[in-house]
Amino acid sequence: MASDRDRARPAATDRVSTGMYPLLLDLAGRDVLVVGGGFVAERRVAGLLDAGARVKLVAPTATDALARLTLDRRIEWAARGFEPGDVIARTLVFTATGVLEVDTAVAEEARARGIFVNSADDNERCDFHVPAVARRGDIVIAVGTGGAAPALAARLRDRFAGSLGPEWARLVTLLGQMRDLARERIPDHRERATALMRAAGDSALLARLARGEEVSATEALSRARAVAVPAGQATPLPAVAFVSLVGAGPGAPDLLTARARDRIATADVIVYDDLVDRSVLDAARPEAELIYSGKRGWQTGEGRPGPELLVQRALEAGGKRVVRLKGGDPNVFGRSTDEIAVLEEAGVPYEIVPGITAALAAAAAAHIPLTQRGVAGSLTLATGVAMAARSEAGASGEASGSSSAPVDDQPTPADIASLVRAGSTVAVYMSLRVLPQIADALLAAGVSVDLPVAVVGSASLPGEIVVKARLADIALRVTTAGVASPAIAILGEVAK
Ligand code: SAH
Repeated sequence: MASDRDRARPAATDRVSTGMYPLLLDLAGRDVLVVGGGFVAERRVAGLLDAGARVKLVAPTATDALARLTLDRRIEWAARGFEPGDVIARTLVFTATGVLEVDTAVAEEARARGIFVNSADDNERCDFHVPAVARRGDIVIAVGTGGAAPALAARLRDRFAGSLGPEWARLVTLLGQMRDLARERIPDHRERATALMRAAGDSALLARLARGEEVSATEALSRARAVAVPAGQATPLPAVAFVSLVGAGPGAPDLLTARARDRIATADVIVYDDLVDRSVLDAARPEAELIYSGKRGWQTGEGRPGPELLVQRALEAGGKRVVRLKGGDPNVFGRSTDEIAVLEEAGVPYEIVPGITAALAAAAAAHIPLTQRGVAGSLTLATGVAMAARSEAGASGEASGSSSAPVDDQPTPADIASLVRAGSTVAVYMSLRVLPQIADALLAAGVSVDLPVAVVGSASLPGEIVVKARLADIALRVTTAGVASPAIAILGEVAK
C-alpha cells in the first residue's frame, strides 16, 4: 500500500518535506463540508460536532445516526449527490463516499479553491489527516501515522491517554488560573515563567488534585514561589518536600502503573531495592539521584538506608521529590509502616502509589483465578518465613512466637489448613527456601496430599516459570525445575 502511494506521488526529491505540520484547529462556528453518509462520515461528523463546527452533510442516503442529527438540527443534510458548488465557503472539506470517482471530484474541487480536503482511504488526496484523539479537559492528545496506520495511531493514543488521570485536566485548569493570577502579581516575566514551570512539575500538587482536593490558584502560586530561585536559573523543580511510596509491580516495566511512571519520571531522588527491575529506572531524569537500598544490606543489617533517609533527602535543598520504589505493592509485605511512621513524625507529606502485587502477577502467569465461584471465595496473603518458623517453634515445643514478633501476626499452618478447607486460596510470599517445611507443616496440620499448589518464579519477568503439583510433591518438583527467587506459592483448588 505504501508502495502504491509512493508511485503516485511526485518523486521524493520534489518534496521539500514529507512531514505533517501538527495543528489544533478551533472550528467553533466554522462551516465544514462532509460528503458521504456512511459510518466513516458519521465518525467525522461526531468529531466535528465535538469541536463546535457547523456541519453541512451532502449524501443521497445516510446512516440512522446522521439522520437523527439532522432531525435534532445539529447538522444540515442535503440528501443528494455532490455538486461542485458545495465546497464554497467551507473551512474544511471531508469526503468519505466510498466511491473513488466522487471522492476524487470532491477533493479536486476543494483543492482548486484552496480549501484543505481529507479524502478517506485516499492518502493522495489528503491535505490533512485526522489523528486518533483523546481528551482530558483542555488537554488534547492527538496521534498521527501520516494516514498509514490508523489502528496503530489509536493504540498509541490509548497508551498515552491511559497514563493521564482526571487530575491532569484539573492541573491544566489550575495552571490557567495561576497564569492569570501571576500576570497580576509577578511583574518579572522570568520569575513568572519559573513559578508556572514549578507548578507544572509538582508531583505533590498533582497528588492532591488526584485525591480530589480543592487547590486555589493563590495557594498553588505561593507554593510555587516558596523558595527563591537563583537568578538565571529557571528550574521546574517544586520547592516542596514530598515522598511517594511507589509500588513498582512484579518486575515487568509495562506492569508499572501510569502514576508510578509519572512519579519516577519527576523524582529528584529514587530509593529502590532488589525487586525493582533496572529498566524501570530508565524513566528517571538523568540528574535524579538513584539510591540502592538492597536486600543484601537488609539481611546484614548494614548499609541499608533506613526510612530516615527519605526524610533527610526530602528536606534537602529546600524540598525534594523523593520516590521510594518497592516491588509489587508497598502495602503488601512491603515494610512501609516504618517509613510512614518516620514521615509522619517529621511532618513530611507523602502518598502511597499502589502496584500490582506478586500474587496477582503470579496468578496471571499461571492462568489461575484467585477466586472462583463455587471453588474459592476468598484470598489470603501470607508469608512462608513466618509459617516455617511457626512449625519449627511448634515442633520443638516452644511457646510459638515468643521470641520473634513478626511470627505472631501470621497464620499458623493449622490456620492455613482451615482456610484451605474453607475454600480460600492462599498466596504464600517468601516461601521458596522454606517450601519443604511449609508443605510438611500443612500435611501435619491435616491438609490433603492432593491439594493443588502452583509455584511461580519471576512472575512477569523474562525467567518466568510455573510449576504445578500436589502439595505432597511440590517441594521436590520446584527443586527439580530449578525455580529461583523471587517465587511465590499459590495454594488451593484454583491452582489445579
Ligand atoms: N511488596 C511485594 C512483596 C514483597 S515480599 C509485593 O507486593 O509483591 C517479597 C516476596 O514477593 C518474594 O519473596 C516473592 O515471594 C514475592 N515476589 C515479588 N516479586 C515476585 C515475582 N516477580 N515473582 C514471584 N514472586 C515475587
